[in-house]
Amino acid sequence: MRIGVLAVQGAFAEHLSTLGAIGVEGVAVRVPADLEGLSGLILPGGESTAQRRLVDRWGLREPILDLARSGAPLYGTCAGMILLSREILDGDEPVFPLLDVGIRRNAFGRQLDSFETELDVPMLGHQPVHAVFIRAPAVERTGPDVDVLARLEDGRVVAVRQRNVIATAFHPELAGETRFHRLVATMAAEHDDPGEGSGRRHHPTRRTGLAR
Ligand code: GLN
Repeated sequence: MRIGVLAVQGAFAEHLSTLGAIGVEGVAVRVPADLEGLSGLILPGGESTAQRRLVDRWGLREPILDLARSGAPLYGTCAGMILLSREILDGDEPVFPLLDVGIRRNAFGRQLDSFETELDVPMLGHQPVHAVFIRAPAVERTGPDVDVLARLEDGRVVAVRQRNVIATAFHPELAGETRFHRLVATMAAEHDDPGEGSGRRHHPTRRTGLAR
């Protein structure tokens, strides 16, 4: 099983090494051919405006949407979360409108540019997540199909899931936290080989739409 990391800009190297740390082969994705045969994709933090431009320059938008539509897991951190949101309240048009959320790009203002905190993420177990926020977004609206995975103490939503798409406003990969990556790997394995009785239909082919 191989999991891609969008590598056009930003903190992709940290995600590749986190995948390596849990024994999963990570693939740097820069052009559509890199997506071939992947079981999942991670969208790193960085600068979402630059990332959106490069995604379109390299023709990655449609093949990434096709991968998501096939049911493969996608996981976005920070700028990656922005790219996955259907509505960017203080920004441009959506890029991959896969999460039915409204997001604020610069939710924490200048005073609170960066901060770290311990977050409860019940889905990952009892031990809190050490969460690093860097010019982070926050979710201000969630649609009915969106699960909230974590909130700050003030109630702001900072981690969400909608079926095969997960996003966190913070960077677990900068804190040695591997549980989100393990979850993505588990979902990717399940996508590759849906178990008996899982209620999910087997996909006969896993094309990413690259042939078009
Ligand atoms: N605020 C940045 C943006 O809008 C995201 C910052 C990050 O990914 N650490 O793209």
